[in-house]
Amino acid sequence: MVGKSHLGRRSIKFVDETLYCERCGISFLWTSEEQSESDTGAPAQPTLCPGCRYLLPQPGRERGLVKWFSHKKRYGFIARADHGDLFFHRSELVDNVRLHPGDLLEFSVGEGKRGPAAIGITVLKPNSPAHSPDDTSRND
Ligand SMILES: [Zn+2]
Repeated sequence: MVGKSHLGRRSIKFVDETLYCERCGISFLWTSEEQSESDTGAPAQPTLCPGCRYLLPQPGRERGLVKWFSHKKRYGFIARADHGDLFFHRSELVDNVRLHPGDLLEFSVGEGKRGPAAIGITVLKPNSPAHSPDDTSRND
């Protein structure tokens, strides 16, 4: 149907859309709220489900765990799954937090004085030294 029922400049009507995750294949809803929240123009259609978006780093970012860190020397190394250990300096940490081995970090890989180094580091999940309650005993 092609017709001009209204001349009004009403914003585009967004409708919930079912999309399929590029990574895990499950279907998920791209809600009209999410669509209208995108910038003006064509809203970018998400390619990953909310779960994968939560689990995976942003494009250009990587994740790894603090392998060790020297508070005195202010540098340390990040252990990564797919690549070797990566040098980082405390000054690249976005948040002013105390690091512990096992902290989950997200970062970009830049060029340091002596080779690749992590830059723009954020702590995703601190490795709490305190005993955490075991909540994984549930069976489906
Ligand atoms: Zn997914």
